[in-house]
Amino acid sequence: MSVETQKETLGFQTEVKQLLHLMIHSLYSNKEIFLRELISNASDAVDKLRFEALAKPELLEGGAELKIRVSFDKEAKTVTLEDNGIGMSRDETIAHLGTIAKSGTSDFLKNMTGDQKKDSHLIGQFGVGFYSAFIVADKVEVFTRRAGLSAGEGVHWSSQGEGNFEIATIEKAERGTRIVLHLKSAEDEFADGWRLRNIIKKYSDHIALPIELPKEAANEAEEQPAEQEWETVNRASALWTRPRSEVKDEEYQEFYKHVGHDFENPLSWSHNKVEGKLEYTSLLYVPGRAPFDLYQREAPRGLKLYVQRVFIMDQADEFLPLYLRFIKGVVDSNDLSLNISREILQKDPVIDSMKSALTKRVLDMLEKLAKGDAEQYKTFWKNFGQVLKEGPAEDFANKDKVAGLLRFASTAGTEGEQEVGLAEYIARMKEGQDKIYYLSGESYAQVKNSPHLEVFRKKGIEVLLLTDRIDEWLMSYLTEFDGKSFVDVARGDLDLGKLDSDEDKKAQEEVAKAKEGLAERLKSALGEQVAEVRVSHRLTDSPAILAIGEQDLGMQMRQILEASGQKVPESKPIFEFNPAHPLIERLDAEQDEDRFGDLTHILFDQAALAAGDSLKDPAAYVQRLNKLLVEMSA
Ligand code: ADP
Ligand code: MG
Repeated sequence: MSVETQKETLGFQTEVKQLLHLMIHSLYSNKEIFLRELISNASDAVDKLRFEALAKPELLEGGAELKIRVSFDKEAKTVTLEDNGIGMSRDETIAHLGTIAKSGTSDFLKNMTGDQKKDSHLIGQFGVGFYSAFIVADKVEVFTRRAGLSAGEGVHWSSQGEGNFEIATIEKAERGTRIVLHLKSAEDEFADGWRLRNIIKKYSDHIALPIELPKEAANEAEEQPAEQEWETVNRASALWTRPRSEVKDEEYQEFYKHVGHDFENPLSWSHNKVEGKLEYTSLLYVPGRAPFDLYQREAPRGLKLYVQRVFIMDQADEFLPLYLRFIKGVVDSNDLSLNISREILQKDPVIDSMKSALTKRVLDMLEKLAKGDAEQYKTFWKNFGQVLKEGPAEDFANKDKVAGLLRFASTAGTEGEQEVGLAEYIARMKEGQDKIYYLSGESYAQVKNSPHLEVFRKKGIEVLLLTDRIDEWLMSYLTEFDGKSFVDVARGDLDLGKLDSDEDKKAQEEVAKAKEGLAERLKSALGEQVAEVRVSHRLTDSPAILAIGEQDLGMQMRQILEASGQKVPESKPIFEFNPAHPLIERLDAEQDEDRFGDLTHILFDQAALAAGDSLKDPAAYVQRLNKLLVEMSA
């Protein structure tokens, strides 16, 4: 070994220590994936070299074939991976093999409970990566040199995976990275050609560059040649360039883990070659679960961009709208220039048309998933439904397509499950129904018993129950679906259209007329608190209810704005009463105006509570109620 200089010992970032610990405890049943991860990194490193060499061909240093070599030593119990990719400088080594750049990692790890700590799926969200080497090795050494730096600027990194790593500057003749795994004594089975070959075939066949293993003598008698010969064990061609019919599901799945830096299988994928005015191939995946940083602004997103098979950049987020940011995959264009930059990408009209085509592909893939596999779609919805709800606001052109993919809880669905689609709702609408009814609120528990639903229950009409924070905002962008308009059942003057017969309507008008006097009395008791008082046609069991004015902000939006410190425009509710209710009859008969006032205020406050709102003056409510209780018991 060459001379080491500038030797120092550094500590891992706390998150790395936690992750290392968790990984060793959760991935013991799937140890062999360490090889997949290290090969994936080597392949990325070669991609980066190819890309940088477009502008600086001298980085190729003589131009040996780009490849990955995996070798082993049974006696020494080591497995070694070597690539001639981009390599790392000293600073890069410290940053990449000592820290985790993803923000939010620390919080995520801190919040994991005992059981979760053993859950390999949760750990898998990080894309297990380089540190998985420590699942099988008790010491890992990395020898690396950044392409373009001199042989004297090589780096030797080594660690036992505990709290620190050592780093030193060394001589390294070739650019690229060599990783030596000193296997734990229980894991020496990996120092075996047959075993390594199988693992590579299983997980890394799709890697586009050759992965070589030492050629072993066909039988013991045959003499080993003086110089080691190597043979390629993988297919070594870019998976997306192959015809769909020739790629097996398992290959698509393993490729996903590589491009998606994921640990689990994807839910679905779509592989397409486009020819004609624009030529490109795309391979898009829906992941199996949401990453922990799905809602973080600066979280990485976007596709891997290739131009004519040359890797250009990661996280090209110009090809899909924000509400599809969870999609992973590759796009390989024949039209873009090899020296395209992010800045140009943002302005290029070619990108715009690719973006709209790729968006359609994703929506079609989701439609297919929804039609083909209800269980899988449920999983999709649980993970990404909230993000998809951003779609109608962001993507006007595809509003209807996105709306068709939305799922809601409903009075006709399973308790609290978001599983009813709009097409399904429409298919079972009542005769004469031409609207899609919905009610939004804080939580499922709160809306499912709302008095607003009484008349719908009586008539057997389905109502969608919208309880996600984003729902009211979403509904401000959705006005109709398939020619049916949406109606918020808590809003305005409920008109059930043909669902009420002419007799019903006539009767309603008569009642309203007969109770005009009561309405006025109530209005003067409630004063400025309400915009209007009127007879309700929504109630069967409750005495009174508050409706939101047609143009007013709903409660959810009001609460969101208030929470974010914004000034919320004042709006007054409409107080509707149920003349058939015994309490209202009693009120109507009340002669004492003070008592009438107290009862009315109690009813008003109760209606606010039932709607999930908070009371402006809770103490006054309690006082009035207690006064009444005292009178009753007197
Ligand atoms: P990820 O691949 O998701 O970025 P990893 O933990 O697998 O995370 O790798 C961390 C980083 O270490 C990589 O992003 C890369 O910068 C660097 N790295 C790992 N292996 C190599 C390699 N063989 N050559 C060059 N850089 C590497
Ligand atoms: Mg990796």
